[in-house]
Amino acid sequence: MNGSKAAFIENSEIAFNEEHWQKINYNTSCYEKNFAKGNVNYRNMHLEKERAYNLSNKSLMQMEKLLVDFETHFTENGGKVLWARDAEDARTQIFDILVRNKANAVSRSNSTVLDEIDMNGFLGRKSIRVVETNVGRFALKTKDMPAYHPLFPAIHLSKEEINGLLTEKYKLKPDSSPKQMVNFVRHQVSDDIKDVDVCITGANFLLSDVGGVVLTENEGNILKATTKAKIHIVVSGIAKVIPSIDDLSVLLPLLSSHATGQCLAAVNSITFGPAKNGRPEQMYVILLNNDRSEIIAHEKQRKMMSCIHCGACVSVCPVYKNIGGYAYDSSHMGPMGSIMIPLMRGLKDYAYLTSACSLCGKCAEICPVKIPLDDLIIENRHLVATEKVGDAKMEVMFKRMIWHCKSRRKMDVHLFLKRMELKRFLGAFWGDRRELPELAPKSFSQIWKDTPAG
Ligand code: SF4
Repeated sequence: MNGSKAAFIENSEIAFNEEHWQKINYNTSCYEKNFAKGNVNYRNMHLEKERAYNLSNKSLMQMEKLLVDFETHFTENGGKVLWARDAEDARTQIFDILVRNKANAVSRSNSTVLDEIDMNGFLGRKSIRVVETNVGRFALKTKDMPAYHPLFPAIHLSKEEINGLLTEKYKLKPDSSPKQMVNFVRHQVSDDIKDVDVCITGANFLLSDVGGVVLTENEGNILKATTKAKIHIVVSGIAKVIPSIDDLSVLLPLLSSHATGQCLAAVNSITFGPAKNGRPEQMYVILLNNDRSEIIAHEKQRKMMSCIHCGACVSVCPVYKNIGGYAYDSSHMGPMGSIMIPLMRGLKDYAYLTSACSLCGKCAEICPVKIPLDDLIIENRHLVATEKVGDAKMEVMFKRMIWHCKSRRKMDVHLFLKRMELKRFLGAFWGDRRELPELAPKSFSQIWKDTPAG
């Protein structure tokens, strides 16, 4: 068993308990209720998803041109575009900007891509202070805990626990309401970013036709942090580019309705470059590849790159709800993580993630850009089998099973022997928490023989 698989099982075990289920199920059920309420705002959700699907396909097919156009327009607006091959390249480019500008602290947004490049870990090692602007992340930071969900970083905690984290470090009443906690963090963030000259964010979309960066949030803290900082650095996956500002009329409402059930997030901003008078004085966009172009080159898996990171597939995934966000050891978690991680980090070491799925199809059903997530997981399983990078023992087990099933004589042995064989074949892979399927007392051929003709 490789290290990542052992860690995956160990972390899954930690989350596999009643208390975790109760909190996750309560918090995700709130999400599901809000999502259902938000859905009624659409006369024809299916049609809107179809539009988003066509739009994202179009963007993927023209990505090279869209990125070059984005660079041209953003540069014309006074910003600078940097290209990063991988996470290390992105971190180095961020650090160069910080060193050039003598910055020793940054503020940041809640962003999957910033976690993908391990920005906090990297800046921590360079003794650069990081101020979290997202309420959930702000609370988690008090104990140096990573995000548990791409949209709701502290979804695994109750409001009392979040209150506890904040009370331990700050002067906050132990029985504060969620509203009081959000207000408290808002004021604290305002205080913390007073002397911070650099703000680093992800991007929800990059607009090719006007060279704009779209950021969407509910708390308003990112807007505050980016307009207070001298320098705004955006790190964005290359697949976030879309053709036109007009496309936001389809994508922004779909993103908000699937992320939180709102018609539109409370604060949506488009930044076209550094401010003419005021802040930010410098603005950089780091376009991160990190294996995305290889995934886009793959005829089937390319669809995964249409993801708008609404987090809906994670919120409804029964596997995620059972094993939790830390099991994936990545900012990509749930169904999208099970697809992206093996493709980005290597099928050989992460083949086990292709099995972390019950193929219930809830993720594909909810996805606003119609990514067939369950099909992509099956496609990854297919790649694991054809590239022979799966569990060798399991392959032997299946070969033996096929050999067994192909022979009528072997299939008709006594039930007791069949049970024994099944236990021997599957037992090692079945896990302690599942019962082996009950075998029918008689095989089909035995029933056929025993049934009188006519
Ligand atoms: S795969 Fe679809 S549902 Fe999941 S985060 Fe991306 S856009 Fe949302």
